[in-house]
Amino acid sequence: MNPPSNPSTGHGRPGTVYALGRNYAKHAAEMGAPAEPVVFIKPASALLPGGGRVRMPEGSHEVHHEVELVLSVGAGGEDWSADEARDALAGVALGIDLTARDLQSVAKKKGTPWARAKGFPGSAPISAFIAWDALPCPFAEIDLALEVDGEPRQRSRAENMLLDPVATLVQLSRWFRLEAGDLVFTGTPEGVGPIEPGQTARASSEALGIELAVTLFER
Ligand code: MN
Repeated sequence: MNPPSNPSTGHGRPGTVYALGRNYAKHAAEMGAPAEPVVFIKPASALLPGGGRVRMPEGSHEVHHEVELVLSVGAGGEDWSADEARDALAGVALGIDLTARDLQSVAKKKGTPWARAKGFPGSAPISAFIAWDALPCPFAEIDLALEVDGEPRQRSRAENMLLDPVATLVQLSRWFRLEAGDLVFTGTPEGVGPIEPGQTARASSEALGIELAVTLFER
């Protein structure tokens, strides 16, 4: 696998942005949902490489932070074996799956799509990617944390993911045709909560040596 060529996405052009929900048991519990991963898609236009400022989405008064590890996919295919999935893993980054929780709650109640709640501009800040072959530790040992204006909110480790990266790509490759340049947000651990306009959410991973910050502002 070639190392990522583009520091923001791991590839020249981001493809589809997949995202897992309910991939950490304690987060599924805090949402009152079964601990069974689900998948949704964020538009590539939601990506905000390097973080920055994000405008409140239209019609929302409650944006939540979800710190996540993000995989970049380095090869295309379908119906992968575990070996094929492992070979396709290109890089790991830190991301924040910003979520308009009030819009999502309404969508869940009505049975309508989550697109507006999950896809607004800037709702997918991501750090630079570290090449899979250059990870400083086994994936399971990677830590991820998030604080809002200095207050700790989320802290976990990749070992708490229900689907690990290989299992994630195996499953996604059965449901979709994966392509080089695709990204996968791998779900958030417990501790999600609101970030208000004017506040800054700072995600970090000591193991990866990465920080990623976003500041929300009123529309
Ligand atoms: Mn999420």
